[in-house]
Amino acid sequence: MRTCACILIAVFWLVPGHLESLAQAAAPAGGEFQAGVASKVITPPGPIWMAGYAARTRPSDEVLHALHAKALALRDQRGERLVIVTADLIALPRDLCNQVADQARKKHGLERRQLLFNASHTHAGPVVWRNLDFLLEGGPAEREKVVRYRERLADDLTEVIDKSLADLAAATLAVGHGQVGFAVNRRQPTEKGFRIGVNPAGPVDHDVPVLRIASPDGKVRAVLFGYACHNTTQGGNNYRINGDYAGFAQTELEKLVPGATAVFMILCGGNQNPGPRGTTEIAEQYGKALAGQVKRVLDGELKAIRPAIRSAFGEVDLEFTQPTRAWLEEEAKSTNRFRKRRAESVLAAMDAGKPVRHLTVPVQAAALGEGLAIAAMGGEVVVEYALRLKRAFPRTDLVVAGYSNDVPAYIPSRRMLGEGGYEPIESMIYYGHPGPFTDTVEETMIAACRRVLAAVGCQATGPDEPIVPAPAPAKGDAP
Ligand SMILES: [Zn+2]
Repeated sequence: MRTCACILIAVFWLVPGHLESLAQAAAPAGGEFQAGVASKVITPPGPIWMAGYAARTRPSDEVLHALHAKALALRDQRGERLVIVTADLIALPRDLCNQVADQARKKHGLERRQLLFNASHTHAGPVVWRNLDFLLEGGPAEREKVVRYRERLADDLTEVIDKSLADLAAATLAVGHGQVGFAVNRRQPTEKGFRIGVNPAGPVDHDVPVLRIASPDGKVRAVLFGYACHNTTQGGNNYRINGDYAGFAQTELEKLVPGATAVFMILCGGNQNPGPRGTTEIAEQYGKALAGQVKRVLDGELKAIRPAIRSAFGEVDLEFTQPTRAWLEEEAKSTNRFRKRRAESVLAAMDAGKPVRHLTVPVQAAALGEGLAIAAMGGEVVVEYALRLKRAFPRTDLVVAGYSNDVPAYIPSRRMLGEGGYEPIESMIYYGHPGPFTDTVEETMIAACRRVLAAVGCQATGPDEPIVPAPAPAKGDAP
């Protein structure tokens, strides 16, 4: 197995001298941070193909509650900025994020590293072209609708960024943590291998990080909070547009904290499902439980955050194992239309002389002040990454998010590659990739995270090793 997986990390810094001039122009009187927040309804205008489940057979029926794009802009006393952009959607694909980032660069001089995109991964929202486009059925008419939706979405995301920056005003930041327990590890070992179910013995992360953004008089203006769990409380038989538990949580929190905008970030919930699950009523219960927990954290003792903001952005190449042509030709005969589509797509790339050998995944870090940082990875990152990074950085209050700046695949742990199942193996069919990642995936991602975290001043002082070690090779395996 190759171990020289290449890491392409580009870390961009603003030159400190440049920051000084910005700070003099706009430092808030007596304040250390400025914050601005904006929200826009992004509910599709009519019935549309919904994302996340291959079993759906028709477009959406109705809207249960509105979907939103939100932006939280932060600026420190030197003028350094960070804008966190969230959406109640299955994904914000990389080319869409980069398109919006280009606009933000032109209009506001924002660097790519200063924009962090995170999509809640709701399975009750529209397809976001071209995320998981193998799952889009319904022919050209449905495709046309999701393509148009995506075009408008780019403008909507630009608009919330504009408005959040226009809203910048003196603010105080404080952080706290709560816990809710509805996320369950869904990788259930069975006699036939790992299946999506419930694994009570598997790793979970029930942490609910909460960032309170208040005006100097103490009025809460925005609350950023997160949780590591799929927004899949409702199944593929749901045809009502909504944000799943995260949608309900944001609505409820805005009722509990009048005047505040609730901003949800999904964390490393790649192998975490709500449990039990299956109905909209349960999604609402979980949302209310999460919002109630966030409110309790807000009402308790929070740790004040002092600037400065720092950010770093990079991309990492994760290598695929390569299938043989003979195997692909067999797969192309499959009666399963998704297997067939994947095989045909991979064969077409081979025939064009452009076999897909790796996947480029964004990796970002943002420090908001001494001791608080966000590590944000692209992809459906499994919870083991968050647990591992938090253990490696014990001196940092570290929030580790997946589903950030792109969602092009699951990012499994090394151990899972040996175990098999949906996240490391079968999901690659739906994402259209040639095969599973090689067994360098975990170390490559972790190394990339360490690079961006080091670039924002975070030091790893704890043990850095897999949360659940990869099993020893069975007898007879090659060394
Ligand atoms: Zn998923």
